[in-house]
Amino acid sequence: MKTLKLRIKDKHANQLNKLAGSVNYVWNYVNDLSYKYLMRTGKFFSAYELNAYTKGSGELLGLHSQTLQAINETHTKARKQFKKAKLNWRTNRPDAKRKSLGWIPFKKSAIKLLATRQSGKKSLKSTLQLSLAKGKKLIIEVWDSYNLTLYDLNTCELVQDSRGRWYACITVKNHLKQICGTGSVGIDLGLKESATTSNGDKLTTKQTQKWAKKLAVAQRAKNKQRVKAIHAKIKNTRQDLIHKFTTQLVKDNALIVVGDVKSRSFTSKKTKLAKSTYDAGWFELKRQLEYKCKYAGCQFEIVGESYTTQTCSCCGDMSSSPKGRAGLRMREWLCAGCGIWHDRDINAANNILAAGFCRLVGEIAT
Ligand SMILES: [Zn+2]
Repeated sequence: MKTLKLRIKDKHANQLNKLAGSVNYVWNYVNDLSYKYLMRTGKFFSAYELNAYTKGSGELLGLHSQTLQAINETHTKARKQFKKAKLNWRTNRPDAKRKSLGWIPFKKSAIKLLATRQSGKKSLKSTLQLSLAKGKKLIIEVWDSYNLTLYDLNTCELVQDSRGRWYACITVKNHLKQICGTGSVGIDLGLKESATTSNGDKLTTKQTQKWAKKLAVAQRAKNKQRVKAIHAKIKNTRQDLIHKFTTQLVKDNALIVVGDVKSRSFTSKKTKLAKSTYDAGWFELKRQLEYKCKYAGCQFEIVGESYTTQTCSCCGDMSSSPKGRAGLRMREWLCAGCGIWHDRDINAANNILAAGFCRLVGEIAT
């Protein structure tokens, strides 16, 4: 199962905002009801018990009965997860201090893909039909960047972002099974380049610098929409770059080894290093590799990365390499042991790959 996020056309926004209002209404009712029940009896309502109270109200609210059930289930689950007697109130007021972003859940039986067609040179457009109360249908058009015809659609949640744009988050079962390649690669996660492979490929995801000027202009002009748009642009571009990088790695390799960087310890300190760590998207890269490898049947290893930058990957000499924080600025160095000129990051990636091999051999031996 994975979730695809598709942008819904803005012309549906008004209708979706209204429906989201109904969802909020149900949520608040259920939230209040289960709190009162808890106060009176000391027990929590289950989603099943809540269904008895919301049953039949869908027609008045314009929501499908299964949407009501989905709201109850999500409420129960969230209440358990956050260990709270009462969850936050969801508000429709656009000027509210803590505005709730729109959310409308649908179950599997309420979703149908009507059509997918070409629009423009590369993009696809799909039409989705979602069931509302009493046979009423909600027809929405989405930009289909995944080609939904290739998947089995499961559940769907319509969600709004802070810019008021709507998205369809659809969980799907995969049809196309991707198979990993035959190579092996080590990856050094660094600060200057976000990632360097032992083959010499580099991924740079830093975007903040590139947009800093435009962001400053927008902030001075107090143009909130523009600031939000730039932040979204930075985030989307970074995400896209990491996706392309990790997909290619899985396609090419059967073994991927990553150095274990405890980047959390960097970000906790408010140093200059913290920002660039955040920027590099280490966590996202590891997260993607983990699930993509699992899916394609590729071996994924995380190894300790101590001494990987200091050791020569050819002869194992440790005396001539750059050390410590000052060493971060040194990109290349000459090994005194064997006389090979190293790129610091590629050398580290090679050591990481070697450490991965060592571990695998060890596992087979024992
Ligand atoms: Zn050497």
